[in-house]
Amino acid sequence: MADRLVFLGTGTGVPDGHRLPSALLLEVDRRAWLVDLGPGVLRAAVRHLGLTGLRRILLTHFHLDHTADLATLFFALKNTRRRPRHLEIYGPPGLGRFLETLLHPWNLPLEIPGMTLTLHEVPPGTVLETGLLRITVFATLHTEESQGYRFQHPTFSLAYTGDTGYDPSLAVALEGVDLLVTEVSYLRPVRGHLSPLEAALLARAAGARHLAVVHRYPDQPESALRAQMEAWIPKTLRVWFPKDGEVWPLRRLRESGV
Ligand SMILES: [Zn+2]
Ligand SMILES: [Zn+2]
Repeated sequence: MADRLVFLGTGTGVPDGHRLPSALLLEVDRRAWLVDLGPGVLRAAVRHLGLTGLRRILLTHFHLDHTADLATLFFALKNTRRRPRHLEIYGPPGLGRFLETLLHPWNLPLEIPGMTLTLHEVPPGTVLETGLLRITVFATLHTEESQGYRFQHPTFSLAYTGDTGYDPSLAVALEGVDLLVTEVSYLRPVRGHLSPLEAALLARAAGARHLAVVHRYPDQPESALRAQMEAWIPKTLRVWFPKDGEVWPLRRLRESGV
């Protein structure tokens, strides 16, 4: 199977009937990485991987629209034998405590017979090496714990910020990336989130080749978002507004189109 990126969700915690909360699925060298797990995302992920294929989850931060389906997942794992043998969850420091608190009201166990669970609390600066893929964790400007992930592979590079406000130092972590997936929540600047203009400036400062905008709240039309960015987009940068379910081949990111 060719390496690919699936936009499982491109929205937020406010349902609009079209978008799930923002979440990515990366399939690289026959390994799948799910990034964020807001409400509804588990079902979309299972459509691609089955429950048994869900083995590696990365979390950007603990807000509901990025984590709530962890509870759904542990309910499912408890109630089926069709589960992965090993599950690894990576997230900010505090991940273990967060997960125990989340599962407590439903009395859902972290320990599932026949499955090993490893929780990796990975602060910014952590580098994970797995085969040819190197994943670097970087801090973002959203919550105390929020962080993004950069995926570096010989054939592509991709970074996902999760939720973030504008911070010029982010461009260092994102430098030269083929694809920047970042958020634009609203047309107007809001603390802890990016406006369209700020997303364009960030992609430009990083020298990214492609910018994919996710985490759009309802009633933020593409035309209005794009109009605010237009004057700030260099010729070397292509801007995309993916829909839920879009699948992109990762090896084409170095070419001009997707
Ligand atoms: Zn958030
Ligand atoms: Zn969010």
